[in-house]
Amino acid sequence: MSAEIIDGKAFAAGLRARVGEQAARFNAASGRQAGLAVVLVGADAASSVYVKSKGKATVAAGMASFEHRLPADTSQDDLVALVDRLNADAAVDGILVQLPLPSHIDERVIITRIDPDKDVDGFHPVNAGRLATGLHGFVPCTPLGCLMLLKHVRGDMSGLDAVVIGRSNIVGKPMAQLLIAQSCTVTVAHSRTRDLPDVVRRADIVVAAVGRAGFVKPDWIKPGATLIDVGINRTDAGLVGDIDPVCAEVAGAMTPVPGGVGPMTIACLLRNTIVSACRREGVPLDEAAI
Ligand code: NAD
Repeated sequence: MSAEIIDGKAFAAGLRARVGEQAARFNAASGRQAGLAVVLVGADAASSVYVKSKGKATVAAGMASFEHRLPADTSQDDLVALVDRLNADAAVDGILVQLPLPSHIDERVIITRIDPDKDVDGFHPVNAGRLATGLHGFVPCTPLGCLMLLKHVRGDMSGLDAVVIGRSNIVGKPMAQLLIAQSCTVTVAHSRTRDLPDVVRRADIVVAAVGRAGFVKPDWIKPGATLIDVGINRTDAGLVGDIDPVCAEVAGAMTPVPGGVGPMTIACLLRNTIVSACRREGVPLDEAAI
């Protein structure tokens, strides 16, 4: 048996095209472009690349990109002041502060300062609470992208056993909430989990967000399971995921790295931005359809 390789790149291209159509509709209805502000503090090479590609994708989707690149020694007060200005700016529908921030800035202070209704990253505790209680908010982009791929491959997931490996606020925890909302039976595994291979063996769906190259092994996989690999690990052999690619011999479907979850993250950021713009301006949008 050889797994279907889930083409996240192609799926993300479709999502971006749908966002582009909605962005054009939004322009016509509101008389302005939807706008995303991205803030980068310091010159971290990986973050700089992410910010550049987010800006490019935003413009390509027909939305306005406002990039704010600040020096590494920017004070927390100055960053708070910028967030306040963006919160008050009517042309800004989404605000994203690229993480990690320099160590002299408390990320929690910045994340909680963003207006929850412009928090297109979905990291504000208000949005985490909305997700946990089934209210409308913003879902973090990476787990949202994983969910879209899972729905595409599995359709109705009701009653399936899902194991999420990793319990971070940006991936593991929101992923678990999304799968609960799909009526899966969800187990969240982490660094203290006992006998992880046995836990993973019961799973119809595995989402790995650990940050260790090739961590999940083929003999942990239930035949036919769907595997979503969130991991991005830079190795001498290039970019690899958290799931050993040999798992494809056992799994039913699996995302590759690169070309799986990664492209979905930016596409979901664009999606959240057009959703925010439509909500803020009262422009009707079928959110479930994009
Ligand atoms: P994190 O470091 O915050 O969390 C890692 C989690 O893995 C922790 O909850 C920890 O308990 C768990 N873990 C560590 N060792 C373990 C072990 N031995 N057994 C079981 N669990 C263990 O990381 P994160 O921010 O959630 O990211 C995880 C991975 O996903 C990283 O590789 C990151 O680069 C990648 N990532 C990718 C995207 C994307 O767009 N594709 C987005 C975000 C993160």
